[in-house]
Amino acid sequence: MTGFFEVETEAAEQSIDITERVKEIVKRAAVDRGTAQVMVLHSTAAVVVNEVADPNIGKDVLRALDAFAPRRNDWLHDRIDDNAHSHVKASLLGPSEVVPILSGELLLGTWQGIWLFEFDGPRTRRVAVHVTSQDPVPSPAP
Ligand code: ZN
Repeated sequence: MTGFFEVETEAAEQSIDITERVKEIVKRAAVDRGTAQVMVLHSTAAVVVNEVADPNIGKDVLRALDAFAPRRNDWLHDRIDDNAHSHVKASLLGPSEVVPILSGELLLGTWQGIWLFEFDGPRTRRVAVHVTSQDPVPSPAP
C-alpha cells in the first residue's frame, strides 16, 4: 500500500522531522515485516535518515550544503528558474530512503529519525510512503 501526507514548510530552507507522520502510515498498513520507502515528490526537497533528537543537526546539514552549493554561483538553471542551488542540494541528499519494518515498527536506531529537507520553500510538500510486505502469504486451502 502507498500512503501520502503533506507538509507545509515555513522557510526557504528548513529541516522537518517527519518520523511520526511516516509511522502513522506504517501502522495503518499493518505489515509485520517489510519495508517502507519514504519519498518526497518534488525536485527541490529531500528525505534523509539521521539523528533527529537534536534539531541542530538538520540546521548543520543545511549549513554544510550551502558551502557545497551556495545560492549565487552563476548556475545555468538560474537562467530559467532561480532555484538551481535548491536542485543541487536536493540531488546531493536524494529524494527517498528505505526503512525496514520489523514487528510492525520502523527499524531505526535510538537517535535516528526521518528528515524532510526543504530547499525552495515555503511550499506544500507531498510525501509518499510505499509499504511493501514480506509477511508470509497463507497457503490456499487444499
Ligand atoms: Zn528549478
